[in-house]
Amino acid sequence: CKINGRNHMLMYSLTMEEAYNENVILDADIRKALHNDEFELYYQPQINVTTGEVIGLEALIRWMHPKKGPVSPAKFIPLAEESGVITQIGEWVIREACHQHKEWIEKGHKPMRIAVNVSAVELQRTDFAAKVQGILTETHMDPHFLEIEITENSVMQNTEDCILTMNCLRRMGISLSIDDFGTGYSSFGYLKQFPINYLKIDQSFVRSALKEQSSAAIVRAMIQLAHNFGLRVVAEGVEDEHVLSLLKNEQCDYYQGYYFSKPVNAMEIEKNYFSI
Ligand code: C2E
Ligand code: CA
Ligand code: CA
Ligand code: CA
Repeated sequence: CKINGRNHMLMYSLTMEEAYNENVILDADIRKALHNDEFELYYQPQINVTTGEVIGLEALIRWMHPKKGPVSPAKFIPLAEESGVITQIGEWVIREACHQHKEWIEKGHKPMRIAVNVSAVELQRTDFAAKVQGILTETHMDPHFLEIEITENSVMQNTEDCILTMNCLRRMGISLSIDDFGTGYSSFGYLKQFPINYLKIDQSFVRSALKEQSSAAIVRAMIQLAHNFGLRVVAEGVEDEHVLSLLKNEQCDYYQGYYFSKPVNAMEIEKNYFSI
């Protein structure tokens, strides 16, 4: 009958809409998530190649969606950048990392550097350094324990303004690193203009260094270049001991990757690295 048919159609389209919503993240969802405290920072240790000591932690955002479960930042960060809500997410990330740092100090743990990721959209804002200063003051964070990771490409947009902001952050005592190095458009020549402390070699080179001569040569060249500029090198995506020994041979300073630890929540960090 007709009514049944129509009901059927209605049901069908509702299901379609639901299916659609399952996979689509909307700007409004992100804003709601911020409001409902659904974001969490995970931390991945960075290890000194020679001593084996943890020298810092990279904070990586996770969205604990009440229905979808954990949503990868690779899924929502690009959208947040497009809509502009990344500014609020970025502020939350820096504030949360500073709070966490303070909490660990109050519990008597040895302070460790925490690196946060900042996207191009945030860095381009003229009030970015002032915002960061405000958060440092509010959280009583010692800026020497804060590091900001900026991707190579984000510095290449509006380079002069970015360098001004970077200089400002450095004067505040914050460390800076170039993330995903080697994947972007900058030439080696630009590197000496950036007031940075660390260079992070992109995982794609690290992971293929054992299989491809060319990647190994690139990794070697990057490490030498960075050292010539007085920078420390962090290799990302270290998944096994073979890559680690290759990096050691090339005099890499620090490494980060699943071989040592996946990113874990603050409680796991305490359990794994702060227990006596
Ligand atoms: P990224 O900054 O390059 O972070 C490294 C990514 O590699 C992380 O993915 C990390 O979990 C993963 N990883 C670490 N070690 C290994 C390894 O040994 N093997 C493999 N296969 N992967 C490894 P994640 O956490 O999913 O983050 C993805 C990207 O999302 C980040 O790439 C970063 O660009 C962005 N992101 C994460 N958190 C934030 C944030 O708070 N703010 C902004 N703006 N971006 C963020
Ligand atoms: Ca907390
Ligand atoms: Ca990063
Ligand atoms: Ca990276």
